[in-house]
Amino acid sequence: MMTPTDAKVMINNFRVSELQMFLAFVGLNKIGRKEDLLTRAFQVVDGRNFNDRIKSKIRELHDSVCANNIANMNISNGIPLRGIAPNLGGPRAQTFYSAALQTRQQEMGIAAQHQMAVQDKPQKMIGLPFFEVLESVHPPTFLQANNPAVKIQESKYQVTLKAETINRITEVRDIRPGVLVDYPVQLLLRFSQKTQVDPAPDAFPTHFNVKFNGKAVQLPQPVPAHRQGMEPKRPPKPVNITSNARLAPLVPNLLEISWGLELGKKYAFQIELVRKIMPDELLNVVKKRSVISKDLTKQRIREILVADNDIAPESLRLSLKCPLGQSRVSLPCRAFPSCRSHVQCFDAQLFLSMNERKSSWVCPVCNKPIQFSELALDEYFSEMLASNLTADCDEVILNSDGTFVPVPREEKEKKGPSTSKQEANGDADLVLLSDEENEDQNTKQILAPRPAAVQLPPASPPPHPAEPEIVTIDIDD
Ligand SMILES: [Zn+2]
Ligand SMILES: [Zn+2]
Repeated sequence: MMTPTDAKVMINNFRVSELQMFLAFVGLNKIGRKEDLLTRAFQVVDGRNFNDRIKSKIRELHDSVCANNIANMNISNGIPLRGIAPNLGGPRAQTFYSAALQTRQQEMGIAAQHQMAVQDKPQKMIGLPFFEVLESVHPPTFLQANNPAVKIQESKYQVTLKAETINRITEVRDIRPGVLVDYPVQLLLRFSQKTQVDPAPDAFPTHFNVKFNGKAVQLPQPVPAHRQGMEPKRPPKPVNITSNARLAPLVPNLLEISWGLELGKKYAFQIELVRKIMPDELLNVVKKRSVISKDLTKQRIREILVADNDIAPESLRLSLKCPLGQSRVSLPCRAFPSCRSHVQCFDAQLFLSMNERKSSWVCPVCNKPIQFSELALDEYFSEMLASNLTADCDEVILNSDGTFVPVPREEKEKKGPSTSKQEANGDADLVLLSDEENEDQNTKQILAPRPAAVQLPPASPPPHPAEPEIVTIDIDD
């Protein structure tokens, strides 16, 4: 089956002569520049009469282009095709084998090129948590260099919106006077680079600019390069082009993309009609998901504290404050499985509201890339917050059995800023009881005695834990 995209990939490789043959075949004007012929041919593919008869004509013309390319390739490479025939039956038989092999090789060459043309489709792009895709307005399409001799390429595309598409945009748009028009349903333009990464993330070509209906599209502000001499790059993000669109059916919209040709790099674009999803909607989705069970968290705490080696810390601390803000976490969440290494949580609501405009997310605790589908509330942390912790408590010490004690205020006052570390980067690196062999440190802290533990969940209000004391030992070197 030939999809319209397949057909366009093939037509894109047509020379002027094939374009003219094709336009004559469908009864259209075949006079004009190559660009105009191409636009006309694409309109046929996008049109209502794109039928099997037209498809087989496209295939036929495509195959003749392929055959031509193969022939040219063989001539230009100067490699004659020669059969390695068994030497039996004399020179005549050898000629026969040679001819047969040549035909076979040509067939294979055509087939390979043909397959490449059809299969070399742009990749699917990463789904965006804050947008629900309603329909594809322009399928993923590779940017094609019209003139490989120049650095900056200009690619033009016609985008026609269906009446239904326009209705979906206009019936919900906010056009109160004096307010910037807001489009809850919008046309989203996205770019990706062809790589092994599947699905593909957003990626912009260099020297990149977009006009929609003659007006410049607002692109993300370029970020200065880290290295000197490098040009600033625009952070790749989906681009809302709705405000430039002609929201009338059958009126063509002109998309103009200028981009820098880069050796070996291939970029594609696509336009989708999307609905913006509000952070609260996403929060409700997260709330309805099954939680990260407390057993799983306790198991992880045990693993960190009772590791079978010397690097196991004696104590593990958990901050009740969200690493994104300075207030206490109210909806503790983590990404699972990406964040299975750490038990520290962040606040779901704060995280979602802060990441609304980002197309890729990282965990604020361990900096790993995370997906929306991974976000889940943490049962252990939730129950801890629901237990009798005082309002001023912002840190707890975890024990290997899953119990915890609040870090007393006295200790917090005593400890210097550099002597205690919080669990971060997925490593539990807080060591209160140091190893004697550690020679490069002359001040060591010992936490003694082990404070009484609070059971989880608390059956009755937990007793006030015994105050731990810090003993500081100075070692003379
Ligand atoms: Zn072919
Ligand atoms: Zn993480």
